[in-house]
Amino acid sequence: MQPNPGHSECRPPLSRREFLAASSAALAGTALAAAENDVPDAESPPKLALHGGEKTIQQRAKLGLRWGDPERQRLDATLSQDSLFYWKGPQTARFIKGFQQVTPLKHVMTCSSGTAALHIAVAAAGIGPGDEVITSPITDIGTVIGVLFQQGVPVFADLEASTYNLNPAEVERQITPRTKAIIAVHLGGNPCDMTALKAIADTHRLVLIEDAAQAWGATHRGEPVGTFGHIACWSLQHSKLITCGDGGVVASNDDRFGPLLQPFGDKGYDRIKGGLLESFATNYRMTEEQAAIAGAQLDRLEDIVSKRARLGTLLTERIRGLQGVLPHQVHPADRCGYWFYFFRLIPGAFKCDRAEFVKALAAEGIEAGAGYIAVPLHRNPVFQRHGFFAGRWPIRELGLTSMDYSKWETPEAEAILKTGVKITIHEGMTEEYIVSVAQGIRKVARYYTA
Ligand SMILES: *Cc1c(COP(=O)(O)O)cnc(C)c1O
Repeated sequence: MQPNPGHSECRPPLSRREFLAASSAALAGTALAAAENDVPDAESPPKLALHGGEKTIQQRAKLGLRWGDPERQRLDATLSQDSLFYWKGPQTARFIKGFQQVTPLKHVMTCSSGTAALHIAVAAAGIGPGDEVITSPITDIGTVIGVLFQQGVPVFADLEASTYNLNPAEVERQITPRTKAIIAVHLGGNPCDMTALKAIADTHRLVLIEDAAQAWGATHRGEPVGTFGHIACWSLQHSKLITCGDGGVVASNDDRFGPLLQPFGDKGYDRIKGGLLESFATNYRMTEEQAAIAGAQLDRLEDIVSKRARLGTLLTERIRGLQGVLPHQVHPADRCGYWFYFFRLIPGAFKCDRAEFVKALAAEGIEAGAGYIAVPLHRNPVFQRHGFFAGRWPIRELGLTSMDYSKWETPEAEAILKTGVKITIHEGMTEEYIVSVAQGIRKVARYYTA
């Protein structure tokens, strides 16, 4: 069997001493060493690559394919089956078994996307016309598509400054008699404060849904994300930590919601109980071919997430204390899979704007981007105009909601997107590579320090 190029560099975690030895050895005699200077030298800051100076990272990380022989073998086995349909399909059954080993949830439904998983979740939660669902304004729109299709109202609560996740106090502030659910988005793979959110959901009798689309393999106080809420959702879309191109999973331990997941993903057909149609639903089924690839990908998950967690933690250690930079905050007892790494620039701390800072990082050879989504979700024209259904929003016309997204404010979310810098973390990168990423960030930050 071919080695998986994405994992060829996986090793057990280094001790701090080993790490320091390894990284300084790697630095000596390379071009990287030029930027390594823990004492800022105001007299002669190193010349930025942007201005013709030496690049911190000479060679891009070679990331390789994220799939290979195991996926090929599963797919090949699938093509010898006499059915490619999910129900009682061996690939789907195998995937679900593997999924339950990672995330012990009793009821599991595979589906066509993360968006589908979230739609199934809100349908199973009983979200109906005018029901309010509190969630994050910084997320993929897939988080709220299902809410809107069920004629519910997404209510965007403001975020914490450095985890970029829901601020529990802000969630509490948005609760009204119409609130029915909370969707906690574990942004970038960083677990939300599930202790606080669960307490709020319990107190106000709300359904707690976890959007773990970006958080495969993440843990909150040692327990897998997805096991805290009533229902949880994952995405298998190409950009996520594991993938089959497109796909999703929705799961629950709750016997009120769990049995509804399968029929809500399958046109209302309850394939266990049978009988007449009891619910109105759409077709979100996943094929055996998708489940075959997703099942093989699951076997790689622990390697992927443990490596990314190590790299993200290392980057934070290496930029912590850097003036003007707020690192990505993760609770020390949690595991973040760093679907991306995101730090913030303190306004006024630098002589340049964020665009130039990011340009300078890119010139140093760092994969960096300004912000994440362009604006908080409700700042998009479709929300500003409430134009969800052929330009109309029936529940607003009927007086079932008075929500006006054109007046909705989430100042912290706004500030996060304006001051954030996104850094690519990938399981194919080495510790040495991340050390050089940190050096490049320090070089640029020191150059521009006001
Ligand atoms: C990707 C994503 C979704 C939607 O998943 P799809 O599979 O693309 O439909 C939902 N929520 C979050 C947080 C995501 O990152």
